[in-house]
Amino acid sequence: MARHLITSAIPYINGIKHLGNLVGSQLPADLYARYLRARGHEVLFLCATDEHGTPAELAAAKAGLPVAEYCARMHETQSALADGFRLSFDHFGRSSSAQNATLTQHFAKRLFDAGLVEERVETQVYSPTDGRFLPDRYIEGTCPNCGFDGARGDQCDNCTKQLDPADLIEPHSVISGATDLEPRETKHLHLRQSAMKDDLAAWIDAQADWPILTTSIARKWLTDGDGLQDRGITRDLDWGVPVLRDGDPWPGMEGKVFYVWFDAPIEYIASAQEWVDAGKGDDWRRWWRTDAGAGDVRYTQFMGKDNVPFHTLSFPVTILGSGEPWKLVDYIKSFNYLTYDGGQFSTSRGRGVFMDQALDILPADYWRWWLLSHSPETSDAEFTWPNFQASVNKDLADVLGNFVSRITKFCRSKFGEAVPDGGTPGAPEARLISDLDTRIAAYTTAMDRIEVRKSAAELRAIWALGNEYLQTVAPWTVFKTDPDTAAMQTRLALNLVRLYAVLSAPFIPDAAADLMAAMRTDDAAWPADAATALAALPPGHAFAVPEVTFRKITDEETAEWAERFAGIRG
Ligand SMILES: [Zn+2]
Repeated sequence: MARHLITSAIPYINGIKHLGNLVGSQLPADLYARYLRARGHEVLFLCATDEHGTPAELAAAKAGLPVAEYCARMHETQSALADGFRLSFDHFGRSSSAQNATLTQHFAKRLFDAGLVEERVETQVYSPTDGRFLPDRYIEGTCPNCGFDGARGDQCDNCTKQLDPADLIEPHSVISGATDLEPRETKHLHLRQSAMKDDLAAWIDAQADWPILTTSIARKWLTDGDGLQDRGITRDLDWGVPVLRDGDPWPGMEGKVFYVWFDAPIEYIASAQEWVDAGKGDDWRRWWRTDAGAGDVRYTQFMGKDNVPFHTLSFPVTILGSGEPWKLVDYIKSFNYLTYDGGQFSTSRGRGVFMDQALDILPADYWRWWLLSHSPETSDAEFTWPNFQASVNKDLADVLGNFVSRITKFCRSKFGEAVPDGGTPGAPEARLISDLDTRIAAYTTAMDRIEVRKSAAELRAIWALGNEYLQTVAPWTVFKTDPDTAAMQTRLALNLVRLYAVLSAPFIPDAAADLMAAMRTDDAAWPADAATALAALPPGHAFAVPEVTFRKITDEETAEWAERFAGIRG
């Protein structure tokens, strides 16, 4: 048994996330957490909402609510949707927590003492029309790198280059559209990331097993152009972690807050403290402090590719630079993007399926299966309704659902609702067991390596083995002449239902639980070998024919949904 700390990139508070966000971090993280728990490992799986910064302030203003109340409500909403998708967080925290404020101030002080934080007078964009300094995201203009005309002041979404507002060509305020922006001097704390460049390069070079997507992005940011840049960690805003030092106002930084990118990843640690303070755990240090037992923890982070620079460079600067024995990430699993029907998901245009809408039309397992089996691992992936319909109908209804329905109904009609006795296994059974052993080993290896699509393909192949077996041995025909052999075949196939429930639970937890309930067992032990696993339900063991496990999606439904989620055409 090993100990695994798992975090998913924390979703921003302002609004409900779409399916592309879900499959880019939270959902595969949940798959991995569920799998590791099923294998008997000790897991702490954490996530939170990312609540600070100007987008939250503006969204609250638009909703007519104080920002703290807006965030509290949206946290509840996101938490309920996470439950709806069966995301099995041990804790779903909030970056606006008192724990995170204290930790953020602590790290800033440590970094300051280590000479890695310094005060700089800098020039920020001030908008006289708006009467305020404009945060980077609220300035848009043309990207100097690629010429994209909707680049934000912090990053170009087209070429992903990290930007400074001063880099933009023809900048304007996103709030008012004002172009009379002027530079004004203001003092801010800066994190001297450049001073840690060699340490980071050595650390990243030592990660031989990281996915190429992760290390290539990290190295690009480390070395491209002038290399890793120092970054401001404070902002002229009201909503955020106050800039305090040892509990007192930080001289020269009165009224300022930490920049959201600095406090957000620290919430990974704070979420563990919140988990303890909520009475759900008793010791967060043994997960996060290598001087308190975290040395044997394997820490895996999940995120979309846009978050890789912060997790490979900025957050490690905070951790390493503190000089304290905090746990560093061991493995970063990053994802490309899911696109929607030939374009991008768009919150403003209501384009694509969002988490609440998805659960309104179908149960979570349907989405979990499609999203994970099509996850954007090695390249971007595209959601289309025909593909979704075909995958769900074939994999879940025709292969898994049909197998379960066929064998349980057959048994009920010929032997009753209990596992039948009699018969001796022969060559077809030996072949099935051998094929299962091979496939389960491949499935387990892929899950261990967090190869999500490959895991789904192996699981699908394991389901298909059951149908192939039934086709080959045809117990409904054998029953007429040799009921004992038909009983043996049926017993084996009923045991496959339980085995499928165990193996499938990380992907489709609700259906797996229904199958376990129908088979009237709570023996969820991960199979050591197929032969033993297929003897778990002995002759005489009662079961029930389950309700329809998965229904088919109709052409009419997909046509209606395609239209409903197409968005307002711009
Ligand atoms: Zn660009």
